[in-house]
Amino acid sequence: MIFDKPNARRRAAPDAFLMWIARTIEQARTARRELSSPVALVPTMGALHKGHRTLIRSVQQQADHVIVSIFVNPMQFAPHEDFDRYPRPIEDDLDVCREENVAGVFTPDVAQMYPPDVQATDVFIPEMGDLLEGALRSQFFHGVCRVVLKLFNILTPDVAVFGQKDYQQWRLIEAMADDLNLPIRILGSPTVREADGLALSSRNVYLTREKRPSALSLYKALQAARMLIQQAGETNPQAVEGAMTQLLQSHGAAVDYAVVRHPRTLAPIESIDLALTGAVVALVAARVGPVRLIDNLLIDEK
Ligand code: AMP
Repeated sequence: MIFDKPNARRRAAPDAFLMWIARTIEQARTARRELSSPVALVPTMGALHKGHRTLIRSVQQQADHVIVSIFVNPMQFAPHEDFDRYPRPIEDDLDVCREENVAGVFTPDVAQMYPPDVQATDVFIPEMGDLLEGALRSQFFHGVCRVVLKLFNILTPDVAVFGQKDYQQWRLIEAMADDLNLPIRILGSPTVREADGLALSSRNVYLTREKRPSALSLYKALQAARMLIQQAGETNPQAVEGAMTQLLQSHGAAVDYAVVRHPRTLAPIESIDLALTGAVVALVAARVGPVRLIDNLLIDEK
């Protein structure tokens, strides 16, 4: 195991626990065994921003120790996607983890997670996993579920937290933990946004200044959906979806989907009845120039 050098804050408090960095599964298991429960896991692909920091902080109240995993998972990228150019500022990421008092970071390489001689297991939930993101990115959730289950088995957390920013991913992991009786509490943490409403994302670094108004239209479309449902009392999902699509297109965004769905299963709904389902979720995915963005909003009776 590699023990990290203390940062300035820890130098001031010499007894403070040093953050470990495990690069192999064996190192991670050894380090994990030394942590007292409850332990929380925050799975990430790195390029950590304020959204990730919020995830770490939100789960610190639920656990004695937080482990962050940083792994750009090739299995969830299609060949034409941005795996090779996905940002990997590992030293900055480790600084963020130190600043957030993370107990340890697991940052394996691809060969650790996917040795060439291993037969791949398909972990998937077709009913929810084939919808929306799954319909457009056929390998995506297969890759996500497999890597998350592997991380769970390696790090055996008591709690794991996922951002509501990736709403379908969060619900899918929740369903997987439920169906497979994983002894792990799955938490969802609210989406962190810029002051203007743009959801923080590691991929925002690809956005040029000219494309920003177009990127912001995702948030505007979600706000429009909320107004229509909460204030105008719209009950027809297609009417809300049409309005979101129009707004996105009028800002030059190429729409992949703009939908209103059941908040847990993500199945289409015949009509919007907040008293019946408690809430609905509006989800949008659109391409702004070369950048693909997703966002969502849970709309309840408030
Ligand atoms: P990623 O590194 O993009 O795979 O994200 C790692 C975790 O951080 C996932 O659970 C994401 O949903 C979450 N996350 C990413 N961006 C945000 C955000 N803006 N607000 C809250 N959570 C986020």
